[in-house]
Amino acid sequence: MKIAVIGSGYVGLVAGTCFAETGNNVVCVDNVVAKIDALKAGKIPIYEPGLEELVKRNVAEERLTFTTDLAAAVKSSLVLFIAVGTPPGEDGSSDLSAVLAVAKAIGKSMDGFKVIVDKSTVPCGTARKVAAAIRAETTHPFDVVSNPEFLKEGAAIDDFMKPDRVVVGCDDPRTAEIMKELYAPFVRTGKPILVMDVESAELTKYAANAMLATRISFMNEMASLCEKLGANVDHVRRGIGLDARIGTSFLFPGIGYGGSCFPKDVKAVVKTAESVGHDFKILKAVEDVNEHQKRWMLRKIDAHYGKDVAGKTFGVWGLSFKPQTDDMREAPSIVVVNGLLERGAKVRVCDPVAMDEARKHHFGDKVTYCKRNYEAIEGADALLVLTEWNEFRHPDFDRIKQTLKHPVIFDGRNCYVSYDLPSRGFTYACVGVKPTAKKG
Ligand code: NAD
Repeated sequence: MKIAVIGSGYVGLVAGTCFAETGNNVVCVDNVVAKIDALKAGKIPIYEPGLEELVKRNVAEERLTFTTDLAAAVKSSLVLFIAVGTPPGEDGSSDLSAVLAVAKAIGKSMDGFKVIVDKSTVPCGTARKVAAAIRAETTHPFDVVSNPEFLKEGAAIDDFMKPDRVVVGCDDPRTAEIMKELYAPFVRTGKPILVMDVESAELTKYAANAMLATRISFMNEMASLCEKLGANVDHVRRGIGLDARIGTSFLFPGIGYGGSCFPKDVKAVVKTAESVGHDFKILKAVEDVNEHQKRWMLRKIDAHYGKDVAGKTFGVWGLSFKPQTDDMREAPSIVVVNGLLERGAKVRVCDPVAMDEARKHHFGDKVTYCKRNYEAIEGADALLVLTEWNEFRHPDFDRIKQTLKHPVIFDGRNCYVSYDLPSRGFTYACVGVKPTAKKG
């Protein structure tokens, strides 16, 4: 099948590449010339494990190309995926300007029947708006489908190639067949393609992210309660996770959720609900808890140092909002590092892949960037763990002790809960667990 994917970011580039991998002819479009030039030169503008090889292979097989020429891409394709960003507008509702601009541009370039697929996460009713924007520009026939994406950054290829389910919101059975044909290679193990009405498909994506964010905020709130009661949230987590009705995933407390999806999608659901007179109380609380949790580490640091950290140095391990990605959008590290800088502290940081992103968009020259994690804690007063990258999970604690000025660790991801750090002479703080030295 001939496919165009418009918007070559985390979702568009992965989706386009995976569709090419299953034999389709795919052109990935973006309006950022530098991004397309880089892709043409074989450089992948984002960090996503496995993506580079897959892009190279499909480019070499001439199934995958890149362009800024949207009109030509529209003309040469039957199925057009819209995968541009939908960031929160000033009031928290989803900003659809990029989606609607692409819809208009598609309409202008149509030369026959097209299937236009909303892959971006968009509020209920957007497919109708996209259809209206196209209809205003063309008399050619077309159909608009909602096909939300559930991939996770860091595991995007695997998630796309082996989805738990594919959601297709579509009113026309013939278009549904085209979508089923396209996705058939990805669901060979029997995972379902759920065809439903367009509005339900649009809402399904938001419902999924809102539910996951709710679990995180619930566990973070439970962790705060554990800290006050002297209970151990790690035990509580295991105790509830083994209940089949609850399940074990997404029960880890930490320093709050971030990234480009959960924060904006929770806000968008609250706004969508408001627009129809519904006060979505739970999700407002989910947001409040998350904002509070992003400051957990600053509260612990203030409590430990009596709010006087001017002149102290902190070594930070991990900046991205989660491991296996360079994405720092809404990352808790932004709140923590900026909070320390405001308090007059010095900050040394290390992240396996997000340091360019941090320098370009967040901290500039205000922090010291260190290539190695032990370099980041040289002469520091404490180590702060902000992202649970695998390489930080089992460090050499003797070396940490020798390198730090004082053996103090604030662990925002509970990486070291099981290492009995107090017995090894560390002052150790983690989320929802009161670390005490084991007896004997
Ligand atoms: P992104 O910012 O990484 O990529 C968007 C791309 O669209 C950028 O490269 C941008 O230059 C391009 N673009 C913007 N306007 C354009 C235009 N008019 N013409 C051509 N290209 C244009 O965003 P993303 O993370 O890939 O997210 C895209 C959508 O997918 C969002 O709605 C997001 O909520 C959703 N989503 C994201 C993820 C994720 O993990 N990142 C997962 C599922 C769904």
